[in-house]
Amino acid sequence: MNIRYRLSIQFTLIVLSILVVLTTNIYYFSSSYRENDYYSRLRDRANTTARLYLDVKEVDESLLKIIDKNTLALNQEKIFIFNPDDEQIYSNLEDSLFNNPEVIKEVRENQIIEFHEGLREAIGFVYNFENKPYVVIASAMDIYGIDKIKNLKIILFVSLLLGLIVTVFAGLLFAGKALSPIDSVVEQVKKITITNLNLRVDEGNKKDEIAKLAITFNQMLQRLEETFIQQRDFVSNAAHELRTPFTVLITEIDYCLMQERSKEQYINTLNNLSTELRNLSLLSNGLLDLARLSFDKSGFQMNIVRIDELLLETCNEVINKNKTYKPQLNFEQLPDDESFLEFYGSAQLLKIAVKNLIENACKFSEDKTVRIALSVNQNSIILKFTDRGIGIPKEDINNIFQPFYRGNNTQFIAGYGLGLALTLKIIHLHNGNINVESEVGKGSVFSLLLPNKSNSNDFLIRV
Ligand code: ADP
Repeated sequence: MNIRYRLSIQFTLIVLSILVVLTTNIYYFSSSYRENDYYSRLRDRANTTARLYLDVKEVDESLLKIIDKNTLALNQEKIFIFNPDDEQIYSNLEDSLFNNPEVIKEVRENQIIEFHEGLREAIGFVYNFENKPYVVIASAMDIYGIDKIKNLKIILFVSLLLGLIVTVFAGLLFAGKALSPIDSVVEQVKKITITNLNLRVDEGNKKDEIAKLAITFNQMLQRLEETFIQQRDFVSNAAHELRTPFTVLITEIDYCLMQERSKEQYINTLNNLSTELRNLSLLSNGLLDLARLSFDKSGFQMNIVRIDELLLETCNEVINKNKTYKPQLNFEQLPDDESFLEFYGSAQLLKIAVKNLIENACKFSEDKTVRIALSVNQNSIILKFTDRGIGIPKEDINNIFQPFYRGNNTQFIAGYGLGLALTLKIIHLHNGNINVESEVGKGSVFSLLLPNKSNSNDFLIRV
């Protein structure tokens, strides 16, 4: 069942229950008011008759009957008076006998009772005259009153039915009106496809719940669009970067095969091919790592890792790979409490990030040297990679973390512009931060901040 019908049914049920309570109350109170009113009129009539009959000596039975007939009596009124011995001494109708001694007994016990005789309403009470208890019983039929109540019942029932019909339609109308902005959002969302991710849904008054839904949806679209653009650029950059080395390889091989070459020429060509293929392997590894981190982060094992050990291992790996690189570790500010050196994360990934920073610093410096300072504070581990290299031009500094972006001053230094993009993703994955300060011709400082073990319990994947 859709929300519109559910809402209107709930609305109808609420209004219906209010109407039922209201009409039942009106009926109940009107009916009991009529009954009470009729009993008090009946009692007045019976009282007057008893007073005239017993108190006023000048009025005898036949005169009283004449008075009764000529005054405003109640409908089919019957009045009986009984002496203290329960003998009937008066009846306003000829030859009418009240044959119910039980009732007389009950009246004497309770002083006054109200009861029904079929459709008739009756009252009985004790009337004291000259210290003797007489019993007066009066009954009559409130035809007009009962008719009025019956009428009221019909009016209330019809009103209830009409109210119900109006409520059903009003409920459908209001629910439809309240939900129509959702329909409009749905229609707008249907138009959004992968080719027009720039479209946004109408945010209405920007205040109510539906507007909040639209705003949240637009924010999601914004993120999707950004990710989509990033992925598209990534794929086209990757394709472009891969195409060039392949073309170089094919050209080199074709050129070599055009005629028979000397042994030296073959060795030279093979050397060139080997270098080119090594670069290609570097590029494809970088691309694969980046893609893996961007699209599937689940495969990395997270553990408690000690940063000083990780730094030592990484430096050794860098030196083994490139003997000219000189990473210099500075552990002067190590804390007494070694647990401050521990963080929760992936050693495998962190090594890639640290290796990129070390290799960049060495690669972009004439002296191939990088100083790596390790320090800690209460919550974080801080690493500083300082080099005296070519530095980064101001206009590049904000872009160097983009995939495939390379500084303007790096034309003659090998690279694909993937290392820092990968490093940033890894650092973000560890809830850390990276900051760069650099001056062209003087050198660069890359500062890396990682939350330590006690601070990384709420590990979040944010990349
Ligand atoms: P690559 O090193 O392959 O060019 P990276 O993503 O590692 O790619 O670096 C991106 C760019 O950032 C580099 O091309 C360079 O311009 C700049 N860069 C990074 N590290 C340094 C550094 N230590 N000194 C100077 N420039 C740097």
